[in-house]
Amino acid sequence: NPNIVIVGAGVAGLGVANRLSRQLPNATLTILDSRKVHYYQPGYTLLATGVWSSTDKVTDDNANLMPTDINWVQENAREFLPDNNQVVTDSGTILDYDYLVIATGLRLGYEQIEGLSLDDLGTDGIGSVYASPETALKTWQQMDIFRQTGGRAVMTLAHTDMKCAGAPLKMTFMLHDRLMQTGTRHDSDIEFFSPHKTVFSVPIVNDNILSRWASYDPPIKVNFE
Ligand SMILES: Cc1cc2nc3c(=O)[nH]c(=O)nc-3n(C[C@H](O)[C@H](O)[C@H](O)COP(=O)(O)OP(=O)(O)OC[C@H]3O[C@@H](n4cnc5c(N)ncnc54)[C@H](O)[C@@H]3O)c2cc1C
Repeated sequence: NPNIVIVGAGVAGLGVANRLSRQLPNATLTILDSRKVHYYQPGYTLLATGVWSSTDKVTDDNANLMPTDINWVQENAREFLPDNNQVVTDSGTILDYDYLVIATGLRLGYEQIEGLSLDDLGTDGIGSVYASPETALKTWQQMDIFRQTGGRAVMTLAHTDMKCAGAPLKMTFMLHDRLMQTGTRHDSDIEFFSPHKTVFSVPIVNDNILSRWASYDPPIKVNFE
């Protein structure tokens, strides 16, 4: 009967936990995460474009998503001791394991963008879709102000690993659509900046998006590299 410890109860940790619970009914399962809220992150694009108006749409209780036979330790992992097959929690509790799954997600590094702080997001025409449900909602508030008059929109794609490479594209399509609905598309320039030679790594998707953007009146301009 394996003793399995999962660190992180996000999408990956919960997915692994639920699958192992079904497939290994005799295993001892433990999951570590101090966070009690589950975030449905793909929904942030819908908040950030005014399709959904409440952060309730993207939050749930982690407790609702755990398998019933799991031991949820509501703390974070502080240290891994792989030579001893042990994890140390924030309070110093030591957990033994036969198998360890590390699923702690990505840490967002907005502070690494020169001149930007997290507090800037959702103010002065600056938006971002990744930071949190609240930031996504504030991003829609900025887009809603912008679409009243139109203007110049600078849409960016990060050059680093990121949570969703499609999100900047979705934001761009939706901005175009919101400006069309408001009647200010002709008063606006939308420019997309990609650090790569493409806007998406899958060629058929990339080509389709570029041809659609080029067909708009006015077109969405794309700047590569
Ligand atoms: C705007 C946006 C759009 C997206 N769109 C899509 C989409 O369309 N399709 C798609 O498949 N994916 C999409 N994603 C990506 C998807 O949300 C992520 O890939 C997914 O959430 C990653 O799951 P994860 O478990 O690795 O990380 P997370 O869900 O971020 O969870 C990590 C967990 O680890 C916990 N943790 C961190 N450190 C510790 C520690 N030391 N000890 C214990 N626990 C810890 C955290 O509290 C958190 O609960 C999108 C993401 C965003 C932001």
